[in-house]
Amino acid sequence: MATEKSAIFIIFGGSGDLAHRKLYPSLFRLYKSGILKNHFAVIGTARRPWSDDYFRETVITSLKDYFDDDETIMEEFSKHFFYQSHDVNDSEHYIALKNLAAKLDDQFEAGHNRVYYMAIAPRFFGTVAEHLNSEGLKTKDGYNRLVIEKPFGRDLDSACELNGNIAKAFPEDDIYRIDHYLGKEMIQDIPHIRSNNDKFEEALNNKYVSNIQVTLAESLGVEDRGGYYETSGVLRDMVQNHIMQIIGTIASDNPESDDAKLIHQNKSDLFSSLKELAPDEVDSNFIRGQYDTDKLGDAKAYRQEDNVAEDSNIETFVAGKIEFNTKRWSGVPFYVRSGKRLQEKSSRIDIVFNEKVEELGIRPNTVVTLLIEKEDGNSILINGINYKDAGQDFIKFPEEAKFDKAREAYESLIIDILSGNRVHFTLWDELRSTWKYIDTIRESWDAQQPDFPNYLSGSMGPDAAEMLLERNGHSWIWD
Ligand code: NAD
Repeated sequence: MATEKSAIFIIFGGSGDLAHRKLYPSLFRLYKSGILKNHFAVIGTARRPWSDDYFRETVITSLKDYFDDDETIMEEFSKHFFYQSHDVNDSEHYIALKNLAAKLDDQFEAGHNRVYYMAIAPRFFGTVAEHLNSEGLKTKDGYNRLVIEKPFGRDLDSACELNGNIAKAFPEDDIYRIDHYLGKEMIQDIPHIRSNNDKFEEALNNKYVSNIQVTLAESLGVEDRGGYYETSGVLRDMVQNHIMQIIGTIASDNPESDDAKLIHQNKSDLFSSLKELAPDEVDSNFIRGQYDTDKLGDAKAYRQEDNVAEDSNIETFVAGKIEFNTKRWSGVPFYVRSGKRLQEKSSRIDIVFNEKVEELGIRPNTVVTLLIEKEDGNSILINGINYKDAGQDFIKFPEEAKFDKAREAYESLIIDILSGNRVHFTLWDELRSTWKYIDTIRESWDAQQPDFPNYLSGSMGPDAAEMLLERNGHSWIWD
């Protein structure tokens, strides 16, 4: 049986895309499963002067895109929704919000718990957090948890500044920085897979691993997010956060318990041992690309997308080699790759073992693939075959890892927030190390003119991505 949770959610950016596409559907799933039931309310805030009724209609309209439930249950759910017009810089508005939250807390008996969710432009994160503190919104008797969306800064300096502003208002333990990849089932299952498969875990080090590859490939282009992408690029959008966190999950020491502090300490230790690149090493370790039209000339090149400059040098593809100075991993390349408009969508981790792994009873040069999104019903492959049919039994999907199948990333993360479980969120120490690493690459790239566009839509990215591995006698497993 699901344990019912109680809280007042205050969603800044309640009229926005993230709220409607991800948060409200996830809250609705939690409502249907009984995790949210009688003791919760959602206050949506945005600048527009909407009524509660109008806000509820927008919520129901979004739900209909994802669910075919009877409208009665959607209406029941929407009765927990309230709207407050709000300008992030206006102190008076925070007082109104505080009073409304207190009133709803009495009405729904929400236990004085507050979840402040920043589904708003990143430039407002600091301002909102500071006002929540200075205008006294934080309750004394319940918890007060601040949820921050990505991006957390655009380089180390801006991330430090943002963190400084937030830290003045909320202690680190109450800050939940979202990286939605950490909400994905496979990523959450990796620690269980490691702790339930002794031989696999024993093989995860530089004695037995030749290289590890992380690919987050998309077949779509930037769609209607050209404006955002122009300020970001794939290095900031995917590598600094998602790819680094995936590496952190597979490569940090796997603690025996689920203790959040221990798990984060291990991740933080790993990231602080990132082998930094000197500026003159960037080009031999990281390559970038930007998509052109496709073979037939039908698709839009990146530079033709809406809100993208005709001479934009923003990268839509990155491939790189990351290394760590730890006893466990020194000498093992972690090849990473992410891009838009690639041949197919795929999110995967390929672990390539060497010949010595035979010592552990694993066939030489075996490749284990962890599929981050299930493909054709598969989640773990051994040499490209479902692990159950591969004729090797050193890895299997443990029963306990299957407990929550079919839970959406945001749904899982919201449960964690309501439960005070910070395992699947990013901590400041981790961000500081990863931004520092990424900044060197960004600075080197910004100082040079790339030759863009350099790959066709529907291809596997620029040729340089293949050469990056060939130089070390390796090749991409997903090709
Ligand atoms: P959006 O532009 O659709 O929504 C922004 C919201 O902020 C709107 O509700 C708007 O009314 C409100 N707002 C803007 N200015 C305001 C002001 N001065 N005072 C009060 N409210 C104001 O943006 P989004 O796509 O929903 O993104 C929200 C956040 O989530 C951003 O930080 C974004 O980076 C992050 N994010 C979004 C997605 C996504 O899929 N949309 C994915 C990951 C992260």
